[in-house]
Amino acid sequence: MKAVFSALQLQHNPTRFLARGAIVDYPESPERARILLKGARKAGAQVHATRSFEDEHIAAIHTGRYLKFLATAFRKWSRAKGAFPEVMPSVRPVERPAHYPRDIAGRAGWHLMDFSCPVTEKTWAAVRMSADTALTAAELVAGGETVAYALCRPPGHHAYADRAGGFCYLNNTALAAEYLRRTYQRVAVLDIDVHHGNGTQSIFYARDDVLTVSVHADPAKFYPFYYGYENQFGSGTGKGFNLNVPVPVKSDDEVWLGAVQHAVEAIAEYDPGALVIALGLDAHESDPLKGGAMTTDGFARLARAIAALKRPTVIVQEGGYQTEVLAENLASFLGTYEAGA
Ligand SMILES: [Zn+2]
Repeated sequence: MKAVFSALQLQHNPTRFLARGAIVDYPESPERARILLKGARKAGAQVHATRSFEDEHIAAIHTGRYLKFLATAFRKWSRAKGAFPEVMPSVRPVERPAHYPRDIAGRAGWHLMDFSCPVTEKTWAAVRMSADTALTAAELVAGGETVAYALCRPPGHHAYADRAGGFCYLNNTALAAEYLRRTYQRVAVLDIDVHHGNGTQSIFYARDDVLTVSVHADPAKFYPFYYGYENQFGSGTGKGFNLNVPVPVKSDDEVWLGAVQHAVEAIAEYDPGALVIALGLDAHESDPLKGGAMTTDGFARLARAIAALKRPTVIVQEGGYQTEVLAENLASFLGTYEAGA
């Protein structure tokens, strides 16, 4: 298996974010990517360099206004005297209609959905490289590879067409799915991060050519709180093409496996030409975000269940934070998936 990676993704290095009223250290650190790279190598993957893609691929998913904001926010923000060197909103438009303001502080509130997505001087360069990493892996699979792993950082599944959230800026999983649509009539996304893939759900909510399925900790008690419920099943022509499978917070391997098997059955019925797995490893029992109780072996069991679909697959890295077994968890998933694919 090829593991697509670019070290330029490490340039994004925010120092802090707001969690439950406290300003805390930023868990989505460059160190994560170094550990994940070790995990990919441990699974026997060959590292493959990210290549640059044209902007049109990004614009197929994200709005022009949002992309311009991400590319220029830090520079505009830094002109204000006394501004902290990380763009962070302090006001948000909740009701619509609302007017898109000129001032960068207003725009920060428009595009940064929560307080976990600071924009630093190097954020845009890293985020764009993360998107290109997903596109490179999708290109490999469209070109005939059975499976490719995109070591994307920052992650992407909480990002909307027009908004960042949950440490995510551009939706790498959605970009990979959209790229695969050029080759395959139907594409399925299976998100097994402990958090619901709300950005991906939103992006494909009214479409029937991309089935979105997410298994995650119950949002009634866990981020992203407002999205990830069973009654969110799509709209318009997309009705019936979004499936949410919430599991209780702190669920173990057995519960996760049961939920993933249910998801796999729905995907088999849809019969997609290709699959994108939004791979979060944060359902592990030792993950600092504490949403799951899975073991390292549990990830191998999930991989085996999903690989049974036998579809060309892009595996996109989503969450999974620093623990002593982060590399082992990735190796457990990738090694088993490749053997079963
Ligand atoms: Zn997550």
